[in-house]
Amino acid sequence: MPRAAYLDWNATAPLRPEVVAAMAEALARTGNPSSVHRWGREARRTLEKARAQVAALVGAAPSEVVFTSGGTEANGLALRGLAGRQLLVSAIEHDSVRQAADGAAMIPATPEGMVDLAALERMLADDKRPALVSLMLANNETGVIQPVAEAARLAHAKGALLHCDAVQAAGKIAVDRAALGADLLALSAHKLGGPQGVGALVVAGAVPLAALQTGGGQERGRRAGTENLPGIAGFGAAASVAAERLRDYAAVALLRDQAERRLAAIAPDAPIHGAQAPRLANTLCIGMPRVPAATQVMALDLAGVMVSAGAACSSGKLRRSQVLEAMGVDAAAAESAIRISLGWSSSAIDIDQLVEAWGALYARTRASAA
Ligand code: PLP
Repeated sequence: MPRAAYLDWNATAPLRPEVVAAMAEALARTGNPSSVHRWGREARRTLEKARAQVAALVGAAPSEVVFTSGGTEANGLALRGLAGRQLLVSAIEHDSVRQAADGAAMIPATPEGMVDLAALERMLADDKRPALVSLMLANNETGVIQPVAEAARLAHAKGALLHCDAVQAAGKIAVDRAALGADLLALSAHKLGGPQGVGALVVAGAVPLAALQTGGGQERGRRAGTENLPGIAGFGAAASVAAERLRDYAAVALLRDQAERRLAAIAPDAPIHGAQAPRLANTLCIGMPRVPAATQVMALDLAGVMVSAGAACSSGKLRRSQVLEAMGVDAAAAESAIRISLGWSSSAIDIDQLVEAWGALYARTRASAA
């Protein structure tokens, strides 16, 4: 079997060792954080420590953190928990936002992969009802970082609120909820070295969010159900390590840039989506002209290299990327785009393996086309 080169960090990141330790400790203990006895109080302490760690990652107050089952639930809670508002959702949002936003108006994107702020301003001016704007901080497919603070200023000037899906950005770039002006902000543990199935919605003090899941007073009445304590303890540990290790991304950027240069040298006709905009240091969205993304993903997998087709974040289904479509990328180019995403333990050997396998496929497809 070939050596494993894991380059799909935007799908899920490996657990940090500190996370494994924090989860093992929480798993070994008994106690419901809502119980008043000693073991209950100990569980509550674990929960509140993690809440403070997650809050610190995004410069929020611990009381603003609502733990959820992940980024998808956090996005759904933000959009459905503020009923009655006109929803303005960027065209490059993750499906967990798009599909929670029934009847939303789409804010278009530019060819560079940024939300179109002039269009947002026009849409806000036309709105009769108070709006909720949803704009992610970094796109999961292209890595393009969005002008969230500017969008929040435009939204607030019109009495609208702003929800920010920071699932891909947190732990990769500094995130400050107040500086972004986000009234709501979604996070997911497994994108930053924590476990799958746990996330948070950070809700600024005065936002009148209604609970969707009821039947208990947990999470200050905003999300009922006994908390996933081992998962939350792991999330807290991951948030804490991620905040301390943001500088690791300087090395990740060097590796990503090296990968990009080498792939572009092999295939000068390969489009690199989002390269003209500020991007996360770890993400590379590149197309091999006339070769379907699925073919590339499978050829790379045979060589031990794990990447995603642009949009296949869930269920392994390959479908054309709505993000690339919103950027005006034509169907053929969108269908040949793959997402390569790195993280703190990615190495030069991973990149060598990627370049070799992708280069071999490119040479084969060009030889058979000739
Ligand atoms: N938002 C973005 C931008 C994502 O990339 C993802 C996951 O791929 C999610 C939300 C959903 O997060 P989770 O997998 O924790 O439900």
